[in-house]
Amino acid sequence: MSHSYQRALSIKQQTVDWRRQFHRYPELSFAENRTSAFIADRLREFGLEVETGVGKTGVVGLLRGEPDRPCIMLRFDMDALPLSEQNQVDYCSQEQGRMHACGHDAHMAIGLSVAKLLSESPEKPRSTIKFVFQPAEEIGLGAKAMIADGVLENPQLDFALGVHVWNERPIGWVGASSGAVMAGSDVFSLRITGKGGHGAAPHQSTDPIVAAAQVINSLQTIVSRNVDPLDQAVVSLGSIHGGEAKNIIPEEVQIGGTLRFYNETTQQLLHRRINEIVNGTLAAMNCKGDFVLNQSTKPVINDSALTLRAIKAFQSLSLGLTIDTNYRTLISEDMAYFLNMVPGVFLFVGCGSLDQDKRFPHHHGCFNIDEECMTIAVAFLLEMVEELDHGTV
Ligand SMILES: [Zn+2]
Ligand SMILES: [Zn+2]
Repeated sequence: MSHSYQRALSIKQQTVDWRRQFHRYPELSFAENRTSAFIADRLREFGLEVETGVGKTGVVGLLRGEPDRPCIMLRFDMDALPLSEQNQVDYCSQEQGRMHACGHDAHMAIGLSVAKLLSESPEKPRSTIKFVFQPAEEIGLGAKAMIADGVLENPQLDFALGVHVWNERPIGWVGASSGAVMAGSDVFSLRITGKGGHGAAPHQSTDPIVAAAQVINSLQTIVSRNVDPLDQAVVSLGSIHGGEAKNIIPEEVQIGGTLRFYNETTQQLLHRRINEIVNGTLAAMNCKGDFVLNQSTKPVINDSALTLRAIKAFQSLSLGLTIDTNYRTLISEDMAYFLNMVPGVFLFVGCGSLDQDKRFPHHHGCFNIDEECMTIAVAFLLEMVEELDHGTV
């Protein structure tokens, strides 16, 4: 058993208690007031320099090392979801319609455990460790808000690390892939305006429903005909609204959708082809279009050298973990904004029950974790900090 895992094990009950405490009192994005106050109090107890209100409800704890050594950010997100808990456990959510159903409760407990262990250690890291407790991950705005408030500076970050407990995979599995591991995502909405009229006299109107059908079909050719088959992208339409009656051609139809991509070139290709298809098709169908495309999050890109060091750190734990170096998902995460500015890695730690029937997806009212995943994550972060601390000058 590795020294890091032994240290993580020594605090296991405390880690579990913290996680359950957070689980009982979930708070939504940018409203993590009680949560962040609790975290700030603990970090002060551990003797860290604490700053609150970074990115509205964010908390930063600094464990200062030697001035010429690197600064390593460890990032943990704090927000819960607007969802009713369906689990029957003694630490169930006490807040109606709110639940920690993504594992951010576990992330905070992992963060506090690492902060406690590193600050109490007789051999403190020589590097500076910046513990970043981020709000509002679920709405994709927390990382941006913390960056705007200067979290990347004073001291300036050299490395950024983050973990996500991951229920798609069982306990004992970890994901450490280099390059793009989570997708960037954009959303769009399109209002198609024609001229309404009698269903039996289509020649007197301009039908936005038929135009919408052409646009929708043509949008499906972007991924199948324009994107390189060895690349990945998604164009999905999630909403369509138009018309009231069976015999009336309506004035307008509204469509909404989402895009997923792993790199900027593909993102630009998707944007260009959507615009061309929408404008060209609507011109041919004699309809007008009001098209709005909003960028949501960037892809999460792992630094290749740091990914290798993360794999080494996982191996050093000697836990017989299954280390998956090819795992990717088209789900998005705003850790992307930190990794866009600072080299780093975002790792997945399997938290699913070995019993497949007990495993529910993230954002589900029955979501729960095998709490051992937290001990693995704490041990990994200790090992990774040590690796970066010794491996860099
Ligand atoms: Zn989530
Ligand atoms: Zn999450």
